[in-house]
Amino acid sequence: MQIADTIEELRRIRRGSEAESWGFVPTMGFLHEGHLHLVRRARQDNDRVAVSLFVNPSQFGEAQDLANYPRNLERDLELLRGEGVDLVFCPSDEEMYPAGFQTYITVEEVARPLEGASRPTHFRGVATVLAKLFLLVRPRRAYFGQKDAQQCAVVRRLVEDLGFDLEVVACPTVREPDGLAMSSRNARLSAQQRAAAPVVFGSLKAAAARIAAGERDAEAVRETMRAVLDGEPRARVDYVSVADPETLEELEQIEGGALLSLAVFFGKIRLIDNLPIEAGDRPL
Ligand code: AMP
Repeated sequence: MQIADTIEELRRIRRGSEAESWGFVPTMGFLHEGHLHLVRRARQDNDRVAVSLFVNPSQFGEAQDLANYPRNLERDLELLRGEGVDLVFCPSDEEMYPAGFQTYITVEEVARPLEGASRPTHFRGVATVLAKLFLLVRPRRAYFGQKDAQQCAVVRRLVEDLGFDLEVVACPTVREPDGLAMSSRNARLSAQQRAAAPVVFGSLKAAAARIAAGERDAEAVRETMRAVLDGEPRARVDYVSVADPETLEELEQIEGGALLSLAVFFGKIRLIDNLPIEAGDRPL
């Protein structure tokens, strides 16, 4: 496994294998099974696999959230070695954002609601760093988790609009046995918060059950999600959403598919999760 911490080194390694297909998994490190599923999928589909470990400052709102983001480079490298990864890119902030940096990419409508409304500069940071990483790594395929459904939608738009020659592959959310979606942020939950956190997926499952039982009024489904969360005193709702899976605009009536999603605070830790509902998943 080759490790590059500068752009120059990354370019040198990448130039040495022009004929091979590269799969790329961008991450912020502190790896868990969710990340490793993406890596395994990339390993299956491509000749070479590259993973980036970079806690991207421009996608964080609060400086404190960035400072508290968990990191463990040595452990991450060990895990990636075990998965047969070919190249790890772990640049410094200065390498990715050189002095005087002032070029950003903004994806518009699809980045505005949900996470974009709660975290106004978040997707600008995500789109900018991914565009830069795509230009450097030049992957044939890039792998993302359905856990960050809006991010998948934003990346699809970015790739389509700027003509990146790569396929965006979205992979299913990997969960703990009690349903909590795996996330690097879970490590920051207290024992009591961790015990309460499965209510996030519980809320999504209750909403899905309501739709399966024939409910078509999106606000009634949002009410169900809120009611489940209200039953857990440690959970503070940021948003609950029943949206069009493509545009992410809130629905009034559920007619085709829908994306159920939510963001919930446990103390200062903000968790997100979602459940896509296919039109065929329920009786119409
Ligand atoms: P992050 O390190 O949080 O930026 O995540 C890197 C990639 O891993 C993103 O594409 C995430 O959507 C994906 N990911 C994070 N958690 C999970 C999970 N529980 N299941 C599947 N993919 C995930």
